[in-house]
Amino acid sequence: MTLQFNRLTPLARAEPMGAVGWGSRAVQPIPRGTVVATFGGDACDRRGFDAMPATRRERSIQVDDNLYIVGPPEREPGDAVNHSCDPNCGPRNATQIVAWRDITPGEVLTFDYGTTDGSDYDQFPCSCGASLCRGQTSSDDWRRIDLQQRYDLRFSPYLLRRIDAASRARTLSKAERVAMLATYDMAPIAALTTALQLVSGRPHARFADIIHASHLSLSTKHALCDGDTNSRDELIAELNEFAGEPFVAAVSPL
Ligand SMILES: [Zn+2]
Repeated sequence: MTLQFNRLTPLARAEPMGAVGWGSRAVQPIPRGTVVATFGGDACDRRGFDAMPATRRERSIQVDDNLYIVGPPEREPGDAVNHSCDPNCGPRNATQIVAWRDITPGEVLTFDYGTTDGSDYDQFPCSCGASLCRGQTSSDDWRRIDLQQRYDLRFSPYLLRRIDAASRARTLSKAERVAMLATYDMAPIAALTTALQLVSGRPHARFADIIHASHLSLSTKHALCDGDTNSRDELIAELNEFAGEPFVAAVSPL
């Protein structure tokens, strides 16, 4: 038995598919509910992900706000399930793809990357050919009401947590802003975390996770997580001036 990081169901086969690179095609009937692919590899944060070679980054999946699973150096059959805006498969959890309907031999296995991707690492013009094609994938696709309804909220667990947070996200009151500023000098991370938890609707989330799920630029995210004091000062000024409105908007439905 050959051990592999990525497992493709024996009911399908990986093969070259022209412009989209490799893909996976059913070779036998695949009943609805079958796990077609299980992803594995190296887990890394965004900085580690960006340092990976492109040949590995293209075989990856985001599994949390700041965590990615990147396929091994050598391509494996389970690496190759491509995107479609009208897919026949979707996420069962963070690392498994399941058939959403019965799939007949010859059909290409696909899932909507918007159900698993929540960061801007893999946005691309789409030409999947589906009548529902969005024409462009976005790290904000999980926020689209039409997709949430059509997919019946079958998204990666970390995106479900973000969707769930939207109903609690709200701007800061005057008193909360005063309290935030009062504690900032003594305990800056604690002050920021409390405020960010309120505006993101995620009362138990860590500072770094809220930052990585936010609207901020990637360089600002890295600076904040590295403890850069200028970036912290700019963040608290923004939270005070706009009462956290941009963070509320970043989790609200589109
Ligand atoms: Zn498309």
